[in-house]
Amino acid sequence: MQEADVVIVGAGAAGLSLAHELCAPSGGPRRPEVVLVQAPPGPLRPPERTWCFWEPPGGRYDAALTASWDRLRVRGRDGRTTVGNPAPLRYKMLRSGAFERLVGERLSGPGGCRRSEAVVDAIEDVPGGARVRGHDAAGRPLELRARWVFDSRPPSRLPAARTTLLQHFRGWFVRTEDAVFDDAVADLMDFRVPQPAHGMAFGYVLPLGPREALVEYTEFSAAVLGADAYEAALSRYTGEVLGLGPFRVLDVEQGVIPMTDGRFARRSGRAVFRIGTAGGATRASTGYTFAAVQRQTRAVAAALLAGRTPLPPAPHSRRSRAMDAVLLRALDTGRVEGSDFFGGLFRQVPTERLLRFLDGGSRPWEDVRIGLGTPVGPMLRTVAEVPFLRRRPPP
Ligand SMILES: Cc1cc2nc3c(=O)[nH]c(=O)nc-3n(C[C@H](O)[C@H](O)[C@H](O)COP(=O)(O)OP(=O)(O)OC[C@H]3O[C@@H](n4cnc5c(N)ncnc54)[C@H](O)[C@@H]3O)c2cc1C
Repeated sequence: MQEADVVIVGAGAAGLSLAHELCAPSGGPRRPEVVLVQAPPGPLRPPERTWCFWEPPGGRYDAALTASWDRLRVRGRDGRTTVGNPAPLRYKMLRSGAFERLVGERLSGPGGCRRSEAVVDAIEDVPGGARVRGHDAAGRPLELRARWVFDSRPPSRLPAARTTLLQHFRGWFVRTEDAVFDDAVADLMDFRVPQPAHGMAFGYVLPLGPREALVEYTEFSAAVLGADAYEAALSRYTGEVLGLGPFRVLDVEQGVIPMTDGRFARRSGRAVFRIGTAGGATRASTGYTFAAVQRQTRAVAAALLAGRTPLPPAPHSRRSRAMDAVLLRALDTGRVEGSDFFGGLFRQVPTERLLRFLDGGSRPWEDVRIGLGTPVGPMLRTVAEVPFLRRRPPP
């Protein structure tokens, strides 16, 4: 049995971020002994993925970024285009492999941080802390004990909710023959794709150079598509809408992010806490999670280093969650057209304010002004309805 002050289960966005924070060389004498448990290669280890978020230049992961942009574009169904400058923020792209290497360097430095590779099967409170049990790739049992355990394994079931939608997408990393991309501008939402009967769909283009980009097709809807349907949507988008000409697909990325107004418990035992998606870090109205993971894991690390109980703070304010519940319901009922809603917001609200709003950093008066830029009638009807809806287990 191994012992440590802290065990982090799962080496995805949340586990890596917390390890990066706790294993900083500047941690001082209170720096805890940490074990980061990573799933062995196999079905529990997700393929490489791309995390985007926004913050000012000079962030702590800047050295590992693949790209960043200071112009963001949204295109309506009719092609109407809004280009915004989010200064002082930049839209940043971090690939999980680069982040793993960045954190790996920190973990291999001097100090009490270790890695372990195992499938975790159970986590339970024991006197003085918690015990983590699992097995390695060869089936040999592993047992760890720690004062605190942070669990980032994805939830096996989504919580009961008034509305549960899925943000599901597939993307191609493409290399084109011609120089067709403007690598100074990222396309956040391009609604010039056929809209599904239920929910909304858009293209997302992150140019990495004049001939390279990540091009995604995304839906917010009730159910994922088959691989063929994503491929057909991407072929149509890259061909008929973007007119990329000949290109090669270098890599593929696919994912599903639950968008739910259900409540995620952040504590599952006296000494066991949930972080990341499992701890409610996904913003229900957008699926963006990475920035909230940063706020959450920094607060946990600060509490640990100060000797306080490291209960992760709620990643999103009550106000943000209430607004998200209304928007999810309005989208789900079809009362609000997603393309009009998001297209209108980007047209009417300065980009920096909108991004701050999406990260929960706007002031109440700014939220009211942003609300006035949305379809007020259908939104107010939904505001009146939401408190009376029952939370049900998702289908
Ligand atoms: C393809 C994709 C792209 C995304 N892009 C963005 C984006 O651009 N911006 C954004 O803000 N959000 C994005 N998200 C949403 C969110 O940021 C990610 O899902 C993010 O990875 C969540 O971090 P996490 O640590 O909670 O979960 P994960 O990153 O999924 O990490 C969970 C970890 O737990 C491990 N694990 C699971 N079971 C076990 C077990 N039994 N034992 C040991 N380990 C286990 C897994 O191997 C994994 O490493 C994206 C999601 C996906 C799927």
